Amino acid sequence: MENRDKKRVVLTFPQQLLDKPIIYQLIKDFDLIVNLLKVKITPKEEGVMVLDLEGDQLNLEKGLKHLKKIGIQIESLIEDIKWDEDKCTHCTECVTICPTQAFGLDRKIMKLEFDKNKCIACGLCLNVCPYGAIQIVL
Ligand code: SF4
Ligand code: SF4
Repeated sequence: MENRDKKRVVLTFPQQLLDKPIIYQLIKDFDLIVNLLKVKITPKEEGVMVLDLEGDQLNLEKGLKHLKKIGIQIESLIEDIKWDEDKCTHCTECVTICPTQAFGLDRKIMKLEFDKNKCIACGLCLNVCPYGAIQIVL
C-alpha cells in the first residue's frame, strides 16, 4: 500500500540550475504534488524556492535525493523565528536574503522592520545575521 508523506522545504540552487525544469521533474519523474509557495533570485544570483511536496514516501525521498545530487541545497522549515531588536544593527543583511520581504528597511528612519505575518519560517535569515539578532523559537 502507498505510504503518503508531505514536506515543506526550502531549495537553494546555484545560477547554472536557474533555467532547469526542477518542478517539472519532481512532478513527472517522481509523481509528486508540488505547491510552489515562494520563489526568489537572491542578489548573489542564487535561486530560492519554498515548496510543499506531497506523494509516496519513497518517491518523496528519491525526489529530494535527486535534487541534492544535481547540486541543490535542501532545508526543512523551522517552527518560527524571533527578531531581537536590541541586538540588531540594521545592517540589512537579512533584507537581501528574505524571500517574502518579512524583513524590510524603513527608509525614512533607516531602520529594520519585521512583519511577522509575512514570515514563512524558512530560516534563511538565521545564517546571515552577523549579530545573532535572529533566533529560532523552540
Ligand atoms: S525566516 Fe527569515 S528569511 Fe525566512 S521568511 Fe522569515 S524573516 Fe524571511
Ligand atoms: S542581519 Fe541581523 S543585525 Fe542585520 S539587519 Fe538583519 S537582524 Fe539586524
